[in-house]
Amino acid sequence: MSDNEYDDDVFDHLELDDDDVFDDIDEDELVALERPAKRAKTEASEVERNLALGDSHIALAERILSNQFGFKAFRHEQAAAIQHILKGDNVLVIFPTGAGKSLCYQIPAIAFPELDGPEGTREPAEAGVTIVVSPLIALMKDQVDVLKKRGIPAESIDSSKTWEELQMIYRALARSQLRILYCAPERLNNEGFVETVKRIPGGIRLLAVDEAHCVSEWGHSFRPDYLKVARFVDEIKAGRVVCLTATATPKVAEDICKAFSIQPAYVFRTTPYRPNVSLDIMLGFHVKSERDKRFEELFRFLRANPGPTLIYVAMQQQSEIHAKVLAAQGFKAAPFHAGLKTEVKQRTQDDFLSGKVDIVCATIAFGMGIDKPDIRNVVHWDLSNTVEEYSQQIGRAGRDGKPSKCMFYLAPSAFYLREVFARGDLPSRSSLAGLVFDIFKEALGVPVGGVFKTNHYRQQKDFDIRPSPLSIIYATLELHFGFIRATTPEYSTYKFEAMPSYFGIIKQHKSLVIDAIYKNAKKKLKWYDLDVYEAASYKNTGLTRGDIVAKLNQLDQQGHIRLKASGLMNRYIVQKALPRTHEDKEKVVDKLYKDLTDREKDALQRCKEVMSLITGSKCFALSLAQHFGMGLPKDKEKCGHCSFCLTGKPIQPPKLTVTPTMASSIQKVLEATNVRDDPRFLARVAYGIRSPRVTALKLDKSPVFRSLAHHDFEVSQSKSLLDYC
Ligand code: ADP
Ligand code: MG
Repeated sequence: MSDNEYDDDVFDHLELDDDDVFDDIDEDELVALERPAKRAKTEASEVERNLALGDSHIALAERILSNQFGFKAFRHEQAAAIQHILKGDNVLVIFPTGAGKSLCYQIPAIAFPELDGPEGTREPAEAGVTIVVSPLIALMKDQVDVLKKRGIPAESIDSSKTWEELQMIYRALARSQLRILYCAPERLNNEGFVETVKRIPGGIRLLAVDEAHCVSEWGHSFRPDYLKVARFVDEIKAGRVVCLTATATPKVAEDICKAFSIQPAYVFRTTPYRPNVSLDIMLGFHVKSERDKRFEELFRFLRANPGPTLIYVAMQQQSEIHAKVLAAQGFKAAPFHAGLKTEVKQRTQDDFLSGKVDIVCATIAFGMGIDKPDIRNVVHWDLSNTVEEYSQQIGRAGRDGKPSKCMFYLAPSAFYLREVFARGDLPSRSSLAGLVFDIFKEALGVPVGGVFKTNHYRQQKDFDIRPSPLSIIYATLELHFGFIRATTPEYSTYKFEAMPSYFGIIKQHKSLVIDAIYKNAKKKLKWYDLDVYEAASYKNTGLTRGDIVAKLNQLDQQGHIRLKASGLMNRYIVQKALPRTHEDKEKVVDKLYKDLTDREKDALQRCKEVMSLITGSKCFALSLAQHFGMGLPKDKEKCGHCSFCLTGKPIQPPKLTVTPTMASSIQKVLEATNVRDDPRFLARVAYGIRSPRVTALKLDKSPVFRSLAHHDFEVSQSKSLLDYC
């Protein structure tokens, strides 16, 4: 298999990887970071003005820092951020990973009840709570464990919690006994949760939004569910907000500030520059016969620079191939990507941490929760999607402060590969219209206030739309048009495997629910299938779907069955009258299509920014810092150790030409179909990527299907294919 051979669902894979992007919560020691060279004058005077008022707050914060956390002093702008939070301001904190963002909300959370006493405003039973919205469930749990060990009452609400555990958490909340509660943004779709939170005595003192760049449509990992966090702040009347992120361009910071009413003076940031990490760029070769040569350069680099190494590639297959090629050369290398089983990923991660594996060949999926201070090299075999992503990935090198290298081995084709990926999210207008009409059809006849259900997975398949644009479309219908409001999704089908004790339970406990489950479960080989709606309506006994689900979960927890839920249905409440006429629906489609087209332009622009960073006539470290609105320490213009500073020459971007064979293949694809409304679709046919529309038009049976996939770097061809349309 060659590393430029795409499998059918390469874009799906990429999608999965995209979802794993939230990977920058590490608890590493921070390497020396300098204060930003410049801060706006207004910020300084503002801080001074509030100093007097904040003195007692700072004393309290320092006491908590040393008593509860055992640290001597605050780092960078932690103190200033905490002081403003305690005062009641909304704040944005932009510190690199490992710099200590968590303390910025943990300390205020602990401080509130202490402030209440002396200020005489509240009873302890009304101390309220701090809610932290974070997309990383695994890391949320780690944080809760750490806090509990330090005697700080904290919990997280996530899907792994049993019903009993949730009840305990809700009880503790109602008594103001928890200081910190973590939850994922999706939880905010759950009305039950929102209602409970609204009723917490003392209210939400502080809402912390971790990975806040997800709020911004300009961020590199926009999550529509994050847009709802701002609405949530209003609904629950949160006392103040702190947003935290490791990577925010000035534009993203502006978006966050707008969404959460944060004044520019209350943005606290530090430069991403790290003096011990050098940035090198090297143009590789892409002609097939030269590929080995490109690998040889990599081998040479790895032999000259031993130590723990991450090699980032764009695709899952590449990760496997690289690991094999390196292993054959005697390197201790392993692949890591979102397509691997959880156990395999966990083992690779453990082996890398313990030193059994030296090199991980990874897609963007790798990095989440990696706490390894001595990574010596981060190699990029392909371009990152965005400068932010690149910055996060190289941010994993040399956290121990020792000299480390970041190396780009670029094949010219890599420049175009990203562009094709960037184009992957825009559906054709006809697909989009199909989807929008389908959504309104599902809601047909549902009155305002009523609930309708859709199946996102089916809609993706039926309308040839990827998960990420699909979720943006739903979020726009909700937040821009105000037509619908997402509510808790539910599973329609449950499967279970019966343990021997299950049959004992059936005999002993003759309850209605047990009977409904037993009589409606249909045996399929090892598993029983159960339609919960059917079971609930069994004999009209007035059971609810919830009764059935609760009992199934209980049987599962007690070990009588092994339960699996499937058929996730997304549920929406109709908020106002939905468009009825064809024209009105078309207007909605127009707006959505314009949005999605703009998003594509934006994604392409972000690819170009990565390219400009690399090919620019400027120190790379300076360019990188400037991307985030900062400079180098002491206003320096050069880091002195990147390849630009060392050679003084910019990297020449490669020129790709379309060869006659490629041009004729493209012509054949165009002849095979008269589809012209969707260049992506044509590219899919050329690559041999199936989609519902490809199959419907029987193009997967045509000789042009996959006709470009075996050319070397079909990417360049697809670019020209797109240009034809
Ligand atoms: P971030 O969220 O910015 O990536 P964390 O909040 O996870 O970083 O903090 C990283 C590590 O630094 C944690 O182990 C934390 O306890 C430690 N830390 C944070 N602030 C300080 C401080 N002022 N002094 C010493 N250690 C600190
Ligand atoms: Mg963090």
